[in-house]
Parts: sequence; C-alpha cells; structure tokens
Amino acid sequence: MNAEPVSLGGLDDAWRSLLAAAQEARGRAYTPYSRFAVGAAVRGGSGRIYTGANIENASSGLTVCAERVAVWKAIFESEQTLDALALITETGATPCGACRQVLSEFAADLPILVADTQGRVWMTSLAALLPDAFPRVSYAETDQ
Ligand SMILES: [Zn+2]
Repeated sequence: MNAEPVSLGGLDDAWRSLLAAAQEARGRAYTPYSRFAVGAAVRGGSGRIYTGANIENASSGLTVCAERVAVWKAIFESEQTLDALALITETGATPCGACRQVLSEFAADLPILVADTQGRVWMTSLAALLPDAFPRVSYAETDQ
C-alpha cells in the first residue's frame, strides 16, 4: 500500500472526528452482493463533514462507491473544495481508481486516512495514489 502506518491514538481531533463519521457511515452500506462495506467521510472547505457508504446494485456496473456518495453530497451542498478524506473498510482498502479521479476534480491533493476494522490506520494522499490524474478543465481557461 502506498501509505504510511500511523497510530490511531496519535490522530488529532479533526482526523478522529472524520474517521468516526466514516465508521458510522460504513454501517449504512448497501452491500448484498459483495458484503464488503465501505464508509467514507470528506471534509469540505467549509469545515463541514459529508459521509457516504457504498451502494450496490444487481446490475453491478451501477454500484457507487462510498467516496463518490460523500463527494456528490459535498458538491451538491456547494462545497468548492475538499480538504480531507477518511475511509474505512474491513481490510484498509484505498480508494479505487475511479474515485481517485473523481476526488482529483475537487482537490489537487488531499490527505487521505485509510483505516481497517481492527484499528489499524494509514495516511496517504491523493497525489501519492494518483500522480497523473486526467487534467480537469479550469474554469478560468474557459469563456464561461
Ligand atoms: Zn471507488
């Protein structure tokens, strides 16, 4: 994993609350097919926390990851930027490639805390996980 292990007890209050929100969100996952529940929490530039859990579908291509549920909620609520992401799974999985690209739309870099359900925690970043993101269009470069 492209992430550094950190001590759960060494997390500051901001990370603890973000991880707690992700943990709570994980309990709301809809995973009748994989049984692999994921909880995510992003902190928007306003400081507000948005949570998500993965929501599966019988047509598996329609499944949406926890990170994207959280990001859609944040952007829908008018967040302009994302400041941090916490993600928790049974195994401590990092965001999938699709979610990394979605995150890059709203954050050039983003600290990412990954946790497993045994209390292990790792710290990584969007830049480390997705060093060559597909470039987003800057609004400043368009005529609109
Ligand atoms: Zn994903």
